[in-house]
Amino acid sequence: MAYVITDTCTKDELCVEACPVDCIHPKKDEGGFDEIKHLMIDPEACIDCGACVPVCPTNSVYALDELPADLQAFAGANASYFGH
Ligand code: SF4
Repeated sequence: MAYVITDTCTKDELCVEACPVDCIHPKKDEGGFDEIKHLMIDPEACIDCGACVPVCPTNSVYALDELPADLQAFAGANASYFGH
């Protein structure tokens, strides 16, 4: 399992600060930050700790197995961003 970021994300990076394994990208100082619509979680690096969920002010982060049906596409979007 992994966590997934969806399109209500405002790229505030609070989740980036909370993540213990630095698996949320792109960050402000990385290429693609301005162009991308929402941040992404690398599903192979995510350790499923859940620390990113309560810090998100827009409730944009879901555990993969709790991802609503209409947001399923974001699982693929997050994974493919990292080439998975
Ligand atoms: Fe990072 Fe934990 Fe969120 Fe995974 S669940 S993206 S490891 S903070």
